[in-house]
Amino acid sequence: MYLLDQTIEALRKNGFDADAFQNREDCIQDLLRKIPKEATIAFGGSMTLKELDLYNRLKEEGYDVKWHWVDQEDQLLLKMRTRTVYITSTNAITKDGQLYNIDGNGNRVASMIYGHQDVFIIAGSNKIADDLQAAKDRVKNHAAPLNAKRLNAGTPCTITGKCSDCNSPGRICNVETLISKKPKPTNIHIMIIEEELGY
Ligand code: SF4
Repeated sequence: MYLLDQTIEALRKNGFDADAFQNREDCIQDLLRKIPKEATIAFGGSMTLKELDLYNRLKEEGYDVKWHWVDQEDQLLLKMRTRTVYITSTNAITKDGQLYNIDGNGNRVASMIYGHQDVFIIAGSNKIADDLQAAKDRVKNHAAPLNAKRLNAGTPCTITGKCSDCNSPGRICNVETLISKKPKPTNIHIMIIEEELGY
């Protein structure tokens, strides 16, 4: 079976709502259908969302959206915890239907798990990994060094492109999560686009 179909089937078996899309516009149209207009939306830090220009698109559609990468507001990360809908991406998705993430502050991974009624996780098919070890390898030796570079973190991986499990003050890998099945109170919708998006 094709890798994407296999991954979607495994995600559904693990209790997630999961769908594949041939292109970004099909995905955005489905997202607009699924999110009620009265929802309050928070975004997680995500290059995928930035590449999709999703914040501006949802604003244009009349949604109430907050994103700490755009909005300047006191205590915004704390306030975002009570929003009804959370939209983000994931660092990796395993072929057997699990979500693997590494976070610096933990706000993104915490919101993926608990606190919002609905969580939408949008990812390019480049985030699919064969197994958990491959997911860890993709994050540590690909995504995290690129993120550290983007953040000017001054970590060794910004130079080598590989993780050395540093003790640098700028380390961005402080919290590691594996969402192996749907958490009971949270509806997690996983939307995989057949494009390369994010790191
Ligand atoms: S632990 Fe340090 S070296 Fe490894 S990826 Fe994270 S920031 Fe880079």
